Amino acid sequence: MSQAKRPKLLGRLAGKFALITAAAQGIGNATARKFAEEGATVLATDINGEKLKELDGVPGITTCLLDVTKADAVRKLVAEQEKIDILFNCAGYVHHGTILDCSESDWDFSFAINVKSMFFLSKEVVPKMIANGGGSIINMSSVASSIKGAPNRFLYGASKAAVIGFTKALASDFVSKGVRCNSVCPGTVDTPSLQQRIQAQPDPDKALKDFLARQKMGRLGTSEEIASLCTYLASDEAAYVTGTEFIIDGGWSI
Ligand code: NAD
Repeated sequence: MSQAKRPKLLGRLAGKFALITAAAQGIGNATARKFAEEGATVLATDINGEKLKELDGVPGITTCLLDVTKADAVRKLVAEQEKIDILFNCAGYVHHGTILDCSESDWDFSFAINVKSMFFLSKEVVPKMIANGGGSIINMSSVASSIKGAPNRFLYGASKAAVIGFTKALASDFVSKGVRCNSVCPGTVDTPSLQQRIQAQPDPDKALKDFLARQKMGRLGTSEEIASLCTYLASDEAAYVTGTEFIIDGGWSI
């Protein structure tokens, strides 16, 4: 899709090329905008082409359809890029319920989006980063049932905990090649999908109150706050940081 012209920028990510998944809304969208503001050239991808169009014309951002569960599409897109300095694996899905509500196909679906997608993307991107002298991979995890137990987040917690292990393994294997890999574990963040989950509850007002009650700061996080952490991890300011999970949860897990 379109690429708007912009003046040469100085910023914390100047000269870097970033690939972001699930950038049409929520945290991925805020991060695409923040990375571009900080001087990166951003390839913002999502499965939702209509929503993605809202990024058309934002200086520094190019958009492209990508379903992260499709290995061939991932391979093709990554191969087309000259270099990738930053990979933000943001795509994820929240399954609601306990193990008793989880079918085998639920399990496969959640792990495909939340974990296997990171395998597809990272496997293609790591060789490019090594060839280029290094890079930063940021993987989206969560506090919910991977750092701290939370009711009805069985499958989500299992998959997001897997992200933390995936991240540490990748970080260990490529630390000597300049490839850093960290995960981000937000608490409850006010995004379109969170609002959908609240509205899907029998009593949405109570559902919102319950979400707020578990955040010790008494409010939801914003996508921009998570984007700021990702900007730090993507930048050379975080050159000594790898293999770590970053909790950003308004004190939920204290
Ligand atoms: P969201 O759920 O509002 O948006 C998700 C985006 O992912 C959508 O644009 C959707 O089109 C896209 N998407 C869905 N399936 C896809 C696929 N197969 N390929 C590519 N894109 C696909 O976003 P959000 O709430 O900002 O969540 C983003 C990430 O942050 C997720 O991994 C989520 O688990 C994680 N997270 C969110 C919260 C929260 O409270 N919102 C908390 C912790 C972690």
